[in-house]
Amino acid sequence: MRKERKTSTAFLRLDTENEVKVGVLSVQGAFAEMGAYWRAQGAEVFEIRQRADLARGMDVLALPGGESTVQGKLLTDLGLFAPLKERMDGGLPVFAVCAGLILLAEKIEDDGERAEARPSRWFGVLPVAVRRNAFGRQLGSFKTVGTFDGRSDVPMTFIRAPAITAVSPQVEVLSTFNGQPTAVRWCTITAFTWHPELNRKPVADMI
Ligand code: GLN
Repeated sequence: MRKERKTSTAFLRLDTENEVKVGVLSVQGAFAEMGAYWRAQGAEVFEIRQRADLARGMDVLALPGGESTVQGKLLTDLGLFAPLKERMDGGLPVFAVCAGLILLAEKIEDDGERAEARPSRWFGVLPVAVRRNAFGRQLGSFKTVGTFDGRSDVPMTFIRAPAITAVSPQVEVLSTFNGQPTAVRWCTITAFTWHPELNRKPVADMI
């Protein structure tokens, strides 16, 4: 099905005139919510559970929230890590949330005394540093309202979120909380520490 697109304002700047096809990594975590979010915006969505699913081809890879340690392990065990990394290196647009952002970060900081394990393997393609579970056990999950893509009333839900502790100069900061970046864009990657897919209204005109 062909679909009218506002190419100039489309958030992900996708280079396709056809219906946008989104592959949602669906090995663990909040992949159902991620799929629903994209479907609501008119995308064709499919789940990536095993290597064979990649044959379908995609315009966007969506990495959901969940547990980055578990996801990292499953990506390796299922043989998905290398082919997905290859596609990312080739410029495949990626939309990543929370655990997904952790898997993309170039650097995952030691989180000190609590020293929770890093994923055994992660993509490391996004030039930012993150610290997992940065808001502590008490304030593990919370909601706030902030500015994103020119709108100042965007609900932002943080669930055992990481903090972005450093960004390379080329990284565009899309939202902040207490002065720290909470969403970033770099080349074809957009990544959030909060959960845009839980919002009733899309956080931007994505496609
Ligand atoms: N705490 C999780 C992790 O470190 C991320 C939580 C989430 O994705 N909402 O992987």
